[in-house]
Amino acid sequence: MTLALYPGSFDPATYGHLDIARRAAAIFEHVVVAVYDAPPKNVLFSTEERVTLLRESLRDAPNITVDSFTGLLVDYAKHRGAKVIVRGLRAISDFEMEFQMALLNRKMEPALDVVCLMTSVQYTFLSSSILKEIVNLGGNVDGLVPKHIAEAMREKLAGRTDPGEIPRYLTS
Ligand code: ADP
Repeated sequence: MTLALYPGSFDPATYGHLDIARRAAAIFEHVVVAVYDAPPKNVLFSTEERVTLLRESLRDAPNITVDSFTGLLVDYAKHRGAKVIVRGLRAISDFEMEFQMALLNRKMEPALDVVCLMTSVQYTFLSSSILKEIVNLGGNVDGLVPKHIAEAMREKLAGRTDPGEIPRYLTS
C-alpha cells in the first residue's frame, strides 16, 4: 500500500489544504494529514484543536486520517512506513522553500520522495495567516474555510488582543 503523508501546520486548515488532501487521496491508497506539533507560541490553535478541526473537515474521506507529529518529518515518515510526502504549491514563491526542504529530506532519507500538487486556481490566494488576519480585523472568511473552522477562528480571535497590540501569530 502506498501511504502518503501530507504534513503542515494547518493553523487552521483552509479549503486550499483540504483540496490538496482530497486530491492526494485520489492518487494514493492512504493519506495521513500530519499536523506539526509546533511550539504553542507560534500557533493560534493548539495541536489537538488543529487535529480536531481537520478530522471534522475530512470525516467523509475513507482513505484519509489525521495525526500529529513532533520532531523530524523523515523520522515520522519512517515510523508510519510512508513512501511519499505530499506538499501543495500556490506560486513560484512556495517553490523555493519546498525545493530546499525536499532536497534536505531526501539527503536524510533517500527512500522518501516528495510529490507537489499545484493548487486549484480558486485557492491560489488562500493562506492560514491571511485568513487569521481577516478574522482578526472583523472580516468574513465564509467560503474560504469550512463553517466550523470559521466559527472556531472567530471564537479564538474574539477579544484576544488589546487594541493596538500586534497579534502574536502575525509576528511569528
Ligand atoms: P507549513 O507551515 O508546513 O508551510 P501550511 O499549513 O502552511 O504548513 O501548509 C501545508 C502545505 O499546504 C504546504 O505545502 C503549503 O504550500 C500547502 N498549502 C497551503 N495553502 C495552500 C493552498 N491554498 N493551496 C494549495 N496548497 C496550499
